[in-house]
Amino acid sequence: MKSSGIGGQAVIEGVMMKNQNQYAVAVRTPDQKIEVKLDTYTSFSEKVKLFKLPVFRGVLSFIESLVLGMKTLTYSAGFYEEEEEKAKTQEEKAKQEKKDNVMMGATVVFAVVLAIGIFIVLPFLISGLFGKLITSQILLRVVEGVIRILLFFGYILLISQMKDIKRVFMYHGAEHKTINCIEHGLDLTVANVRKSSKEHRRCGTSFMLIVMVVSAVFFVFINTEILWLRILLRILLIPVIAGVSYEFIRLAGRSDSKLVAVLSKPGLWMQGLTTREPDDEMIEVAIASVEAVFDWRQYLADNGVKKYAKKFGKSDKTGASGKSASTGKPDRRRIPERLRTPQRRIGMAGMVRTVRTERMQGPELSGTDEKMRR
Ligand SMILES: [Zn+2]
Repeated sequence: MKSSGIGGQAVIEGVMMKNQNQYAVAVRTPDQKIEVKLDTYTSFSEKVKLFKLPVFRGVLSFIESLVLGMKTLTYSAGFYEEEEEKAKTQEEKAKQEKKDNVMMGATVVFAVVLAIGIFIVLPFLISGLFGKLITSQILLRVVEGVIRILLFFGYILLISQMKDIKRVFMYHGAEHKTINCIEHGLDLTVANVRKSSKEHRRCGTSFMLIVMVVSAVFFVFINTEILWLRILLRILLIPVIAGVSYEFIRLAGRSDSKLVAVLSKPGLWMQGLTTREPDDEMIEVAIASVEAVFDWRQYLADNGVKKYAKKFGKSDKTGASGKSASTGKPDRRRIPERLRTPQRRIGMAGMVRTVRTERMQGPELSGTDEKMRR
């Protein structure tokens, strides 16, 4: 089965799913409804073709996924803001929004500086302590790489103890399981998602691990003796390393080769920490998110699943992309009926909030509890 091309991310009490230039954020609101917001995201590579080339596309994709991740995370957190926030007037809210944007900018900068300090500079400095014992530069860089991976491992272990993060990791599991479900040719139902694997090759956790392995290789070639320059070169190389790592994960997502499967293993183990088994309510949210951006029935038909191949036939060239073949614009007919109405526009330009009120019901909820690993 060919890759669905869907990417996703867990947010606060919800899941973001992205397909081509459309993305949806589905959130379980405090009153237990599922709210789905559909929006479009035009990649910068549409404007500057350079970013369609290998390595370059990875650098851009890395930055864009961080930006979109922050944006959707903030959106989802909005459902769980304090009561006093809600009581504010429009004017107060606009003021608050400005303040929030500044705060968010500062938070991002702080987080980036902290991440560079902990995961780039610190392993280098610690490995320097071994300099008297180990004379081989290559071996020293291996030590540095191992320290980096251990720090990352420790960081994940630490945050996974937090209650809120636990739930985010459960939604992360729901996101993977939902994508795996359709990529294994199964109908998108709660029961089928439940028995799908929570490990996925195209995952951010795997990506980070690959970044660390690739960086060890790159850092071997930094030959200068000047300490600050060695640190600076490490930081400057981050985009290149991210770009190369992206190519690997892209390959891993498509390839069926044994070698790629073996190389993907450590990343999948690491996902054991960042994903948890979701409950059925979370799975419903993930399904709602996928259905807003992806016509899985058409995808299954295109991939020869008999039941749907008969009903839908082979689709046009654009496949399951949800776009009209002639215009390239999102095809409204492909958006599931119940997600199309009712819609209402909210404040920010171009942002459509689709409200879904009914809870998902049906025979799929009465599935068995067996956990089948794929
Ligand atoms: Zn993931």
